[in-house]
Amino acid sequence: MLYRLNNAGYQAHLVGGGVRDLLLGLEPKDFDVATDASPEQVRSVFRNCRLIGRRFRLAHVHFGHEIIEVATFRGMQEDASPSDMDATNGMLMRDNTYGTIEEDALRRDFTVNALYYNVADFSVIDYTGGLADLENGVLRLLGDPATRYREDPVRMLRAVRFAAKLGFRIDPACEAPLLDLGFLLRSVPAARLFEEILKLFMSGTAVQAFEKLRHYNLFAELFPETDDCLAHEEQQFPITFVVRGLHNTDLRVREGKPVTPAFLFAVLLWEPVRRLFEQLVASGVHYSIAMQQSGGEVIARQIAQSSIPRRFSMPMREIWQLQHRFEQRGGKRVKRLMAHPRFRAAYDFLVLRAEAGEADAALAQWWTDIQEAQPEIQNQLINKESAATGRRRRRRRRSKPISPGEA
Ligand code: ATP
Ligand code: MG
Repeated sequence: MLYRLNNAGYQAHLVGGGVRDLLLGLEPKDFDVATDASPEQVRSVFRNCRLIGRRFRLAHVHFGHEIIEVATFRGMQEDASPSDMDATNGMLMRDNTYGTIEEDALRRDFTVNALYYNVADFSVIDYTGGLADLENGVLRLLGDPATRYREDPVRMLRAVRFAAKLGFRIDPACEAPLLDLGFLLRSVPAARLFEEILKLFMSGTAVQAFEKLRHYNLFAELFPETDDCLAHEEQQFPITFVVRGLHNTDLRVREGKPVTPAFLFAVLLWEPVRRLFEQLVASGVHYSIAMQQSGGEVIARQIAQSSIPRRFSMPMREIWQLQHRFEQRGGKRVKRLMAHPRFRAAYDFLVLRAEAGEADAALAQWWTDIQEAQPEIQNQLINKESAATGRRRRRRRRSKPISPGEA
């Protein structure tokens, strides 16, 4: 497709993450194309092409199931300042300023993201020292770091994300402002942060991303309540649940298994949910109601930071809600729970809790065994448990008054 543009008399370059990853020997996620043809000219070359975007006009060229994004070189206008954002018409014009390839390079974020692969002569075009930085494993912002972070605070998260994914170090001059500018993330639209969080934690290097975010005080901007929980030790043990959950996500990504945003956010928000849940239970609220309430409250406060679409927050709450039901191992309840559409995710969650020392390891093992067992053995396990629970319950009833929650 790049040759089609060339043959029509235009420049055509691969750019961005695709070129960076190819040069590093990684498998590129996607390719972006940059050209000196205007979006309308691109459309005249490709039948299967749609122009999209208002702020940034792009051409999407469709090839079967694939879509290739073709962007016209953008000019050197400063990124919109808050006052520009309000001046609706002015902004449209300014953001569609076209420029030369050199100007296009300079308005990208990192030097290693500003390399162009020219298909006309198979050369890599490097205006910014990106090749040297790639060689040395350095992430370096173009221009003055603090200014570039202020223009678009998501660049701070991108710095962390690429450092984690590529194993690069962030250039000291770009690193220093990270520690002070985290608050800028508060002005980023919640939906954009949600997308960026998924990229940070669902690309196979979530643990590294998490540790860097914590190091630069950025995690507290994304998940303030979780960060607060992590700052406190529990019975002298640091809380390891989150990092274990992220490690588990990384393994799944690397094995090509599915990971869902619902499970990820269930992990990331569990500590504050659990904290509130335990307070409510201690004050006499019934388990099930306490979980409803704490899940609801924590999510309501979180979506002020990053949105969580309902299609993910509903299953998250179910995962949390089912945790207590694992403790009831008698009779029909077991099979009913196993037939629940969220059983598998909730079980995985229970295993993580057990690994972190927060849930009973024997309980998690029981649920592992029951799933692997043949039907007759399953029934034996359940009956044994029913009898045991019955005994426990009778004993407890006699020795202790019924708690307000149970009544
Ligand atoms: P990924 O592997 O995640 O796709 P990428 O570098 O391709 O990494 P994209 O978000 O796909 O990241 O963006 C493509 C290119 O657009 C980047 O390589 C960079 O040159 C430019 N870019 C993206 N976001 C920004 C930004 N916030 N500021 C400046 N340039 C950006
Ligand atoms: Mg990309």
